[in-house]
Amino acid sequence: MLDKVLIANRGEIALRILRACKELGIKTVAVHSKADRELMHVRLADEAVCIGPASSAQSYLNIPALISAAEVTDSSAIHPGYGFLSENANFAEQVERSGFAFIGPRAETIRLMGDKVSAIEAMKKAGIPTVPGSDGPLGDDDASNLAAGKRVGYPVIIKAAAGGGGRGMRVVHSQDQLLEAISITQNEAQAAFGDGTVYMEKFLEKPRHVEVQVLADGQGNAIHLYDRDCSLQRRHQKVLEEAPAPGIEPQARADVLEACRQACIEINYRGAGTFEFLYEDGKFFFIEMNTRVQVEHPVTEMVTGVDIVKEQLRIASGLPLSIRQEDVKLNGHAFECRINAEDSRTFMPSPGKVTLFHAPGGLGVRMDSHLYTGYTVPPHYDSLIGKLITWGADRETALTRMRNALDELLVEGIKTNIDLQKDLVRDSHFRQGGVNIHYLEKKLAG
Ligand code: ADP
Repeated sequence: MLDKVLIANRGEIALRILRACKELGIKTVAVHSKADRELMHVRLADEAVCIGPASSAQSYLNIPALISAAEVTDSSAIHPGYGFLSENANFAEQVERSGFAFIGPRAETIRLMGDKVSAIEAMKKAGIPTVPGSDGPLGDDDASNLAAGKRVGYPVIIKAAAGGGGRGMRVVHSQDQLLEAISITQNEAQAAFGDGTVYMEKFLEKPRHVEVQVLADGQGNAIHLYDRDCSLQRRHQKVLEEAPAPGIEPQARADVLEACRQACIEINYRGAGTFEFLYEDGKFFFIEMNTRVQVEHPVTEMVTGVDIVKEQLRIASGLPLSIRQEDVKLNGHAFECRINAEDSRTFMPSPGKVTLFHAPGGLGVRMDSHLYTGYTVPPHYDSLIGKLITWGADRETALTRMRNALDELLVEGIKTNIDLQKDLVRDSHFRQGGVNIHYLEKKLAG
C-alpha cells in the first residue's frame, strides 16, 4: 500500500480523499494556496505545504510547486481529485517521471480521452454506441462539411475536440448557418483550448444524461458500478444527481454496462473512470469519458457499497481490484444535491464568512463538505461548498430523506442554492423520474 499521498486539490474532495487515506493507514500531505490556510483538510492532514498565492494558476495548477511539495515531504503518490490538473496528461507524465505514482490512468490514456475525437474513435472500436456524426474532425473543405451536415441531418452540434466544462459547443439548426458556426467554434476553441479542432454530432433534442462508473486495475480486471442520471443541469453543469438512473430500458442498460467494462479491458484502463452517455428513445450514445473521480461519485458508493476513492488508492498501489463484477450488488437508490455558495435565483457567486453551519443527519444521510461555522469561503475558486447525499431502499424513500435533510441543513452568512434544491426535490416531474437535460433550464426560464 502507498505510504504517503499528496492531495493536489482543495475543498470537499480534498477532505474526501484524506478520509479514504486515513482508513487505509496512508499518511497525508495537504497542499494549499495562501487563501486556503483555513481549509478543514489542512488541519486534519499529517503535513501541510503552502504552494502559492490565491490564484489557481499559481497554486493548484502550478505543476513545479506541486512536484516540489511531493519531493520535500517524501510523498509516494499524488491524488489530483477532480478539476484542476486531474485530466492534464502532462501533469500525470511529470508526476510519474519524478518518481511518484499518479492516482489516475496512464498519461497516454488521459491524452486519448482528452481529445474527444480520438476518444469517440477508440470507443467505437471497442463496441460502444456513439452519436451519429462527422466520424472525425471537420476539415476546411466547405463542400464536404455541408455534405456531412446533410448526412447527419439537422439539427447538429459542432463541438471542440479539446472542449470541456460545457464550453466550445454550438447547435446548428439549418444548413445556411453551418459554415459560419464551424468557423466561429474553431476560433473559440483555438482561443480557449489552444486547439481549433472541431467535429459534428447529431443534436439530440430530448436526451437524458446517463453515465456509467467503472473501476479498472490496469492488470486486466475491470468492473462497472452501474449508472447515474445527471440530467438536471444548468449551463451544462450538473446540479442534482441520482443512482441508478430511473426507468432505463433493461436490455439497453445491460448491454451498455457490459460494453463499458469490456472497453476498459480493451484500452487497458487504470483507475476510476466515467463513460458519459446521452440516452434517448431507449438508446445510449457515448459523448465522452472522464478519467478521474467525479463530483457525483458518492451516489454510486451509496448504492453499491464500494468506496471508489479507496479503490483508486489500492489500484495506484499496484493491487488488483478488491471486488469482482459478480460481487457488485445494486442496493436501493441515492440522490446528491450539490450545495453551492451562490444565489438561488441569479446564480451569482456568494463567497464570505459562514456564520452558522449545521449538517443534517440520520439514517441514510451523508454530508460531504469542508464547511464549519466560522469558515470563510474564498472568492477565488469553484462555488461548490458541499454535497448532500441521501440513500433509501427505494427511490421514494431516498427522495423523502433528501427533502427532510435539506430542511435540516443550515448555512448562514452567505447565499446558497439550498432553496433551489428544496424546490427541485418537490418538483412533480422530477419526482416521477426521467426528466431530460433541458428540463431544469426550461423550469428556471418559466
Ligand atoms: P463537456 O466536456 O464540455 O462537458 P460534453 O460532450 O460532455 O462536453 O457535453 C456536455 C453537455 O452538452 C451534455 O451533457 C449535453 O447536455 C450537451 N450535449 C453534448 N453533445 C450533445 C448532443 N450531441 N446532443 C444534445 N446535447 C448534447
